[in-house]
Amino acid sequence: MAFELPKLPYGESDLQPVISSQTIGFHYGKHHKAYVDNLNKLVDGTPMAGQSLEEIIKSTAGQADKSGIFNNAAQVWNHTFYWNCLKPKGGGKPSSALLGKIQSDFGDFENFKKEMVNAALTQFGSGWAWLVADAGRLKIVKTPNAEVPFTKGQKCLFTIDVWEHAYYLDYQNRRADYVNAVFDQLTNWDFIEKNLG
Ligand code: MN
Repeated sequence: MAFELPKLPYGESDLQPVISSQTIGFHYGKHHKAYVDNLNKLVDGTPMAGQSLEEIIKSTAGQADKSGIFNNAAQVWNHTFYWNCLKPKGGGKPSSALLGKIQSDFGDFENFKKEMVNAALTQFGSGWAWLVADAGRLKIVKTPNAEVPFTKGQKCLFTIDVWEHAYYLDYQNRRADYVNAVFDQLTNWDFIEKNLG
């Protein structure tokens, strides 16, 4: 098969109590896996089977007749990225270099958090909240469904999945509690800094 489900960077119960092993079991083991399986079926026997995930996402973005391939490819990428944005005993604050950039582009760390949480809470329906670098400047954006900011030239640094499958087993309708807990306790600042380059 062209694409494989990447291994989780931690154990399925390691994000507890913020994200339960039951949620990871469904979210990673069923949803993420289904996107990989669907993508493999859709590209099997086509030139896309030999392309990278990023190439497929960029070449199918915005094309109505390729939406099935785009949605599954982008969701494979988004979920792999999301898992890496989290880590057990994460949260806190980034190193002084990234913290300085956050203060320069958002005023202060608290305002940055407020904007990220607000994007996550105001994304209507399924989607993602992101920290991106856009022409060197840090920005908060949100995307619906499978959409991913790098198709618009923005560098992805950090994301929080706000599809209901990401939090409903643990938080039901309390999306704000999920988003705040993830931000405060699971954010993997080392990964985010690495993405900034
Ligand atoms: Mn998800």
